[in-house]
Amino acid sequence: MPAAARKPYVVRRSAIHGRGVFAVAPIARGETIIEYKGERTTWDEAMERPDSDPDDPSHTFLFELDDGRVIDARVKGNAARWINHSCAPNCETYEDENGRVFIQARKRIEPGSELSYDYRLSVDGKLTKEERARFACCCGSPKCRGSLLAKTKKKKKKKDRKKSKKDHKAKRKGK
Ligand SMILES: [Zn+2]
Repeated sequence: MPAAARKPYVVRRSAIHGRGVFAVAPIARGETIIEYKGERTTWDEAMERPDSDPDDPSHTFLFELDDGRVIDARVKGNAARWINHSCAPNCETYEDENGRVFIQARKRIEPGSELSYDYRLSVDGKLTKEERARFACCCGSPKCRGSLLAKTKKKKKKKDRKKSKKDHKAKRKGK
């Protein structure tokens, strides 16, 4: 996508959650739509920062990178942070070799459609039933798995495990 091209999306209120990002022009399958921008920081540092919304832990602007650091889109973030989660999304994310994260169309997207990707949220430590409930998904898709959390893997990374302090701050991880 040439940098000078008109943005194919716009931010406005969403029926899914708060603000959302909507296509205003057709987007081709495989097209890179936007970079997930923000300040790069360590997970430890991110844990010390205040929550985006203490009442809604699923409302995170943190995006986990392959090297374990995170992008905090609360600082210097762009429209990408408003793209909502869906269990049957029309976008997905990828990280390039420079550790930059981009949102890409999984299929052709028509104008007016809301952009979404699977947040696959992860949190440190074990969650109680009540805590899990706070990550409930209401994307409305017939394929909805009922949670914004990624399906739990058997083994978490060791470095994640020892950090179980404070609340369960969540971070996004596209794929
Ligand atoms: Zn869902």
